[in-house]
Amino acid sequence: MRGVQAINLEKTSTYIDGDVSYWYRGSGIPQRRPALAGDTSVDVAVVGGGLTGLWTAYYLKSAQPDLRIAILEKEFAGFGASGRNGGWLSAEPPGELRRYAETDDVASAVRLQKEMFAAVDEVLRVLEVERIDAHVQKDGLLHVATTPSQQARLVKRMPRMRRYGWGEQDLTLLSASDLSRRVKVAGAVGAAYSPHCARIQPALLVRGLAQVVERMGVAIYEGTEVTQVQPSLAITTHGRVRADFVIRALEGFTAGLEGLKRAWLPMNSSMIVTEPLPSSAWDEIGWQGAELVGDEAHGFAYCQRTSDGRIALGGRAVPYRYGSRWDNRGETMSTTFDQLRVQLARLFPATRSVGIEHAWAGVLGVPRDWCASVGLDRATGLGWAGGYVGHGVTSTNLAGRTLTDLVLQRETDLVTLPWVGRKVRKWEVEPVRWLAVRSLYLAYHAADRRERVSNSKTSAIATLADLISGRR
Ligand SMILES: Cc1cc2nc3c(=O)[nH]c(=O)nc-3n(C[C@H](O)[C@H](O)[C@H](O)COP(=O)(O)OP(=O)(O)OC[C@H]3O[C@@H](n4cnc5c(N)ncnc54)[C@H](O)[C@@H]3O)c2cc1C
Repeated sequence: MRGVQAINLEKTSTYIDGDVSYWYRGSGIPQRRPALAGDTSVDVAVVGGGLTGLWTAYYLKSAQPDLRIAILEKEFAGFGASGRNGGWLSAEPPGELRRYAETDDVASAVRLQKEMFAAVDEVLRVLEVERIDAHVQKDGLLHVATTPSQQARLVKRMPRMRRYGWGEQDLTLLSASDLSRRVKVAGAVGAAYSPHCARIQPALLVRGLAQVVERMGVAIYEGTEVTQVQPSLAITTHGRVRADFVIRALEGFTAGLEGLKRAWLPMNSSMIVTEPLPSSAWDEIGWQGAELVGDEAHGFAYCQRTSDGRIALGGRAVPYRYGSRWDNRGETMSTTFDQLRVQLARLFPATRSVGIEHAWAGVLGVPRDWCASVGLDRATGLGWAGGYVGHGVTSTNLAGRTLTDLVLQRETDLVTLPWVGRKVRKWEVEPVRWLAVRSLYLAYHAADRRERVSNSKTSAIATLADLISGRR
C-alpha cells in the first residue's frame, strides 16, 4: 500500500494506490487459506479462484455433492477482477450479440440474451439463499449520452437491441430531463434505462461465495500457482493435481499460462473512489437510488454510488501493457489516475472539491473477436470460460452453470448457447499487439475529444478503430 499525492481539480488528496482494491478496505485483505500440500487427485480441478471458478464449483457441488473439487488459486480467492470490478451485476451481453448471430443465428443470440437477464436474478437468488450480504440493490442501469454523437449512437443502437431480445420494458430511451430526475450528469443530452442491473460490492460477493463453496466441501488451495494445464493434470508450484476435468478459469490472467499468451488480451481497467460526498454534493447530483451509470464515450466510463455514499468510477485510460503484462496488486499509473479524475469531474462537477481515497487497476480478458466463450473438450477433460470483455460479473454465473451441465453431460438449453465451444483466432504477436491496442485507444480518446466539440456524427476515427479492433 502506498500513499500518493495528487493534484485534484480543487483539492489535493492522498490516496491509496493498489492494495488490490478499495472493496477490501472494510474487511481487510483476506488471510490466505493453506496452499496445496503435495500431489493429489480429485474429480474436478478448477484453475483460478474468481467468480468463474467459484460459480462452477458452487453449481457442480450443488448438483452432485459427492464430487471431489479443488480450486487452485495463485493468490487468494477474489484477488483478480472479481474482487476489483465496478460492481455492475448487469445483463449486458459479453460481446456484441450480432457477432454470436454471425456464427449461429439470431434466435441463438436472443437465447443468450434471455439467459443474461435471468442470470442477474439467479445471482440475487443465491445471495439471498446463502445469506451473502454484498450491498446489493437492483435499481437498474443508465447509459448516459453526454454529446450529440453519443446520443445518436444510443438511438441507432435501439433497433439492434430490440432485434436481440431487448423489449420496450428492458431498455427505454429517456430525455435529458427524465434522466435529471434520477441523476444529474453534466452535459447529458439523453439516456437509456434498463432495469436489468444491480449494484454489488464485489469483494463481499466473491468472498462470500468462496466461504459458501468451502462450507459445501470444495477445497480451496491459495498461494498455489498453476504453471501448466494438461489433459487430466494441473501442475502447480506445490504439487500435481490429477483430475478427470481441469477447468481453466483465469480470464485476464490466461496469458500467464504456457501456450496461451495470445489467446485473450489482458485488458486493464482502472477505478477511483471518492471520499464520502457531503450532502450538498448529493443535493446537486441527485442519484438517490443505486442505479449504475455509464457514459457512451468510446473510452467508456462506468460508475456506481457505493452503499457508503461515495462515487466509484472506472475506465480504460491505459488499456494494455506490452507483452500482455498486468499490474502489481492493483497499482495504477499516474496518467490513469489523472484521466479518471478529470472524467469524474466532467460527469459530476460537484466532485471537484471532493478528495479521492483509493485508486486501483485490474485485468479482464478480451478475445480477438470480442466475444466470450465457454467450453469443454470431452476427449481431454479440459474446460474453460472467460473473455467476457468487461461484462463478467453476471456472465461468470451463466458460465459456471453451463460448465456444470457440460461436465455432468446434461443436455440442457445452456449447452447449446452460441458462446459454447466458440473458438477464435489469436491476437497478433508483439510489438504489433501493443502498437495496435495502444493506437486504437489513442484513437478512441481522440474521437471522444473531437465529439465533445463537434456535431452529432460519430467520429470517423472511432469508426475506423472499431473496424480494425474487431470490437463492433
Ligand atoms: C477494474 C475492473 C472493473 C470491472 N467492472 C465490471 C463490472 O462492473 N461489471 C462486469 O460485469 N464486469 C466487470 N469487470 C469484468 C469482471 O470483473 C471479470 O470479467 C470477472 O470478474 C472475471 O472473473 P474470473 O473469475 O473469470 O476471473 P478473475 O476474477 O480475474 O479470477 C482469476 C483468478 O485466477 C488467479 N490466477 C491467476 N493466475 C493463476 C495461476 N497461474 N494459477 C492459479 N491461479 C491463478 C487470479 O489470482 C484470480 O484470482 C471489470 C473488470 C475490471 C478489471
